[in-house]
This record gives sequence, C-alpha cells and structure tokens, in this order.
Amino acid sequence: MSEPVARPPSHLFYQSRQRRPLLDRGEGVYLYDVEGNAYLDGSSGAMVSNIGHSNPRVIEAMRRQIEKATFGYRLHFENEPAEMLAAETAKRMPGDLDRIFFVSGGSEAVESCLKLARQYAIAVGQAQRWKVISRFPSYHGSTLGALSVTGMASMTAPFAPMMREMPKIPAPTCYLDPDRDETSLEERGLRYAEALREQIRREGADTVLAFIVEPIGGASTGALVPPPGYLKRIREICDEFGVLLIYDEVMTGAGRTGKFLGADHWPEAAPDIIAMSKGFAAGYAPLGAMAAPKRLVEPVLDKGGFIHGYTYAGNPMACAAGLAVLGEIDRLDLVGAAERQGATLKARLQALQQRYPFIIDVRGEGLLLAFELGRDRESMAPLPKEMNGFVELVEEAYKRKLILYSRRTRGGVDGEHFLVCPPLIVTDEQIDEIIEKLSGALDAFADRHDLPRAA
Ligand code: PLP
Repeated sequence: MSEPVARPPSHLFYQSRQRRPLLDRGEGVYLYDVEGNAYLDGSSGAMVSNIGHSNPRVIEAMRRQIEKATFGYRLHFENEPAEMLAAETAKRMPGDLDRIFFVSGGSEAVESCLKLARQYAIAVGQAQRWKVISRFPSYHGSTLGALSVTGMASMTAPFAPMMREMPKIPAPTCYLDPDRDETSLEERGLRYAEALREQIRREGADTVLAFIVEPIGGASTGALVPPPGYLKRIREICDEFGVLLIYDEVMTGAGRTGKFLGADHWPEAAPDIIAMSKGFAAGYAPLGAMAAPKRLVEPVLDKGGFIHGYTYAGNPMACAAGLAVLGEIDRLDLVGAAERQGATLKARLQALQQRYPFIIDVRGEGLLLAFELGRDRESMAPLPKEMNGFVELVEEAYKRKLILYSRRTRGGVDGEHFLVCPPLIVTDEQIDEIIEKLSGALDAFADRHDLPRAA
C-alpha cells in the first residue's frame, strides 16, 4: 500500500478517511501534485476528463464567458452558450431526440429522465405507469431516485427503507454464463433480453413506465458490452408494451466508446430518452443533460409544464465549457481516436492476460475498457474477498503514479474490475507507460498473494 500522505487535518470528508496528495495542476493526460509528481490519469478521473486536462481552447472559451456573465437564472434570462450547446447537442442525438434539458451532473440527468417519463405518462392519460425496470448490476447515480434504479447492493442497501426500489432484471453478464461453452452468445443475449418481457408481465404491463440501461456498462459491470441482438430485442420488447427506453449515457456519451454515443453502436435500438454528463463537459464544469423528443416533451408542457428543475440548469459558464468541449471532440477527432487508441490499449490488456492468469476477462469498447480479476478463466470465480484486490491493485498502481478506477463486479459485493480509461488524447507512448506501470502493479500484487504468473 502507498505511504500515508502527510497532510494537515482537513474539514472535508467524503466516503472514507483516505487522504491523497494535494493537486497542483493538470496537463494533457497528466495530473501533478504540489510536490511535482506526475500521475498518468489512466481513468480520466471517474471517466470524465475525455479531452484531457487544461485544454487551452476550452479554458479560453470559459474565460471569455466568465468576463461577460457567470450566472443568469433560467427564469429570468436565456443565454447564448446554453442555446448553442442545446443546438449542438441535439445535432448529435439519434432519431428525434432534439429537446435538451441541462443539469449539473449524472445523477441529476438520470432523475430528470425518470421524471420526464412519469410526467409524460400522466399527460397522456397513463398515470398507472410508474415502474422503471433496470438491471442488476447497474449504476445510475447516488441520489435516492437514481439509486432506486441502481443495482448495486453495497450502495443501495442502507437506504432501502427510504426509497421505492424498482424491479431489476439481470445484466447480460454472458462471460459468466454456466452454459457459455454450449450455447451461442447471441442465444444467451436474447435470453437476457427476454427477462425484460417476463419482468414486464410479472409487474403488469400497464404499470411499467420505462426501462433504463447503460448501453455499455460503466462502474458497476466494468465496461460490459451487450451481446449481439440484445439491445435490438430490448427495443422491440419496449415497443410491444409501450414502455419507454432510457439510455444512461452518463459514462458512455461524448465519444468515450469510439462513437459519440453508446447508442450509435446500435442504431436499430435507438432510445426514447438519453442522460449524459461526465465527458459532456469533460471535467471543465459540472454539467449534464437530458435529451428527449418533442413527442414526450410537448404533452408535458401542454399539461402545465415539467415539474422539475435545478438552480444551475443552463449555467452560462458551464455551457460555454460544454460547447468548447464538443468543439474539441470534433476538431481533434476524439471519437475516432477513442476507437483507434481503444483497439491498441485493449490488445495490450489482452496480452497481459497471457502473463497474469488471474486476469479473467478484458472487455469494453473504444476507450471504455476494463479488466476483471479472478481465480482462473475456467471457473471465473472471484478472488477471495479478503485479498481486497480492488483496493490493493489500485494502490500499487497509484504508487507507480498510474491512476486506475476499480469497483466490485458482482453486485458491488464480490469480484473486482479495473477501468482503464485514459483521456481520448492518449498517445501510443502513453499507452506504453500505462502498460509498464500496470505490469509493475500486477507483479507486486501477484508477489504479495502468491498468484500464478507466466514467465
Ligand atoms: N450514471 C452512470 C452510468 C454513471 O456512471 C454515473 C457516475 O458514475 C452516474 C449516472 C452518476 O453521475 P454523477 O456522479 O455525476 O451524479
């Protein structure tokens, strides 16, 4: 484990007592502490800093806006950055999703989707629809509404009595299926999709409002890519029962997976509503968005308005940042870069599997990549929990100045995966550096726990 950081006592608190070095500055894929140490940001923070740190064009756009106005409340003024960002965002959305609602983060974006879906149902005379089905595992945010659709026991359990937990179906973790050697991936994928139909029937089809899904998994499943045919069948099932399909693109949006949206990988399964945040303003400002079509928004506005909103919605400085970020994604072709560099990094991670048999899976799309640890690839069983691999390996990497992001894979309780998601500007040399530091961390972890390793 890394040495405890000697820092003066703090009035701040977050999840634990863990202390970290004081951040000085960021540049490209690196973050520097006040001692001058450079850390390679191998997870873009929490899959946020897609365009890298301290991008001069974004900073300049923000500076220009700050000098004019930092805040104008949406009930009193429209502002140009918000208007322009809404238009630019709408252009990048699939199908008819051309109405944009701004928020300050991912949980707020998800809450907004749930509330729009519900108010739409009321507006069109279907007030009996209120259940939102989601998957287990999944992560949709930490406010109580977003938690109600989150499938991660470690995060939801304490709050169960305080919220209305929503029905869950299993996420398509095909790589763990007991019949994975006998049954095709496609067949198993469709089996997972059929679980939605069964759940809708169980709940009573006329009570089900929506199904929310991360098109490619994020923190909870570790970059789980859906099997072929899965999302298409999900779309068909939603249509069959008049259930709205919500894509949580908080992590997958803004180029991370090698397309602008996760949805763009499956145009045949376009959603009705999209939640975005993280890479959308890439850490330059707290910003998120919901995209929805006129056919859902107008009935709600006609019936007296959308009963929902946040003070900072459409903040001019945040929107100026978001607009400049979209500009940089285009100018630098970061969507293409995610696809190309993602293929390189994924191949390098797969090569590590040969040396470290306790890497039981490498998965993901574009630069949303993860590897999972376990006993061996035959059993796919997790490592003993006491090994605490999901903390230890991150600390070994941190000691080597590589930042990784880990979570427990199986419902937040067992197993461990590590997201390797550098900014989309990552170069081949920086991928070499990631792999070299990661190998050092894996060696130290293997030595400590006497885990097998190929020569
Ligand atoms: N949805 C997904 C898919 C996420 O990955 C996250 C954050 O990790 C959220 C929602 C919540 O976003 P935030 O932490 O900005 O509220």
